Amino acid sequence: MAGIYVHIPFCKRKCIYCDFYSLACGSAMMDRYVSAVVKEAGLRSGELVGEVRTLYVGGGTPSLLEKPQFIGLIDGLSHALDLSKLQEFTVEVNPDDVTTDLIDAYKATGVNRVSMGVQSFDDQDLRFINRRHTARQALDAVRVMRQGDIQNISIDLIYGMPGQTLDKWRRNVDMAASLGVQHISAYCLSYEEGTPLWRMRERGEVKEVEEELAVRMYEVLVEQLQQAGYMHYEISNFALPGFESKHNSSYWDGTPYLGLGAAAHSYDGGAVRSFNPADMERYMGGLEAGVLPCEREQLGLAEQYDEMVMLALRTSRGLDVEELERRFGHAEVELFRAKAERFLENGTMEREDSVYRLARSGVMVSNDVISELFADP
Ligand code: SF4
Repeated sequence: MAGIYVHIPFCKRKCIYCDFYSLACGSAMMDRYVSAVVKEAGLRSGELVGEVRTLYVGGGTPSLLEKPQFIGLIDGLSHALDLSKLQEFTVEVNPDDVTTDLIDAYKATGVNRVSMGVQSFDDQDLRFINRRHTARQALDAVRVMRQGDIQNISIDLIYGMPGQTLDKWRRNVDMAASLGVQHISAYCLSYEEGTPLWRMRERGEVKEVEEELAVRMYEVLVEQLQQAGYMHYEISNFALPGFESKHNSSYWDGTPYLGLGAAAHSYDGGAVRSFNPADMERYMGGLEAGVLPCEREQLGLAEQYDEMVMLALRTSRGLDVEELERRFGHAEVELFRAKAERFLENGTMEREDSVYRLARSGVMVSNDVISELFADP
């Protein structure tokens, strides 16, 4: 089993918190980029291990691709790779790009899941983070997708914005739940070095919300969504039963994936990761010359161990130490058990047979708990 991720690094303008690789560019550049991605798929098809079950076109803003470009991309990928066993095909959209026409084109290419960056249902928040859509446009986009028979819609939200009150956040979560979308991801606003938001904080123009408020917002999120029938299946992800993201779940359980496009990462399911350059010219130039631009990195055993512990503990499925033992041996598991003991005692973790999970109180301090369980340096 394998997944494919395609990165579309185009954005009309930059959100103030974003450090993803993306830039503004015109249609000719997008044509050139689509050709390069298709070429990369052809050159790397041999790297795929097992059937391709998920395809995720993310960004950036994939919905900026014009219809013929998107159709050309998917046609090209289908010729280069065997996509006949796809179960989930997701595309990310920005609300103000969503039209009946676009959704029809997506449906025609096999898209069965749309993920939309809503971030907030409050226009003041949206202006603050420099999103180009309004709350009204997000609601309209959901309606258009439903009319277009997209039966699996995911939305992203952000909490912990400066000035965001608990009440305002509560209304956001209420609105998300009342829409009845199948999947909701929610992240705390983070200050990444080099972003405009980071600089605003440096200049004293904005202040991070108090940690206590951010924790309370997270609690509200979990409580309200669970009451509305959503499963909390990963720290930042919630789904109506049966609508957990297959693609993202495969990242968390170590399934191999092939990442195509500038700045995309790939993983072979074992010890090798590869990275494409976060540079359009290097990426496209390399492929146009018939050279794969990716760099490979061999993960050491400790890195593989840490990754497995971290990803599994972020999910509600938890970490099965029998699996850990199969991959890393008995001694490592004994060490894990010893380290986990104090978290079982203080109630931040729970155990069911061989499976360890974060308890509700552990989810709030997940980074601290998980990093204590990493391999010894
Ligand atoms: S739309 Fe997404 S990728 Fe583009 S700048 Fe905003 S957060 Fe970043």
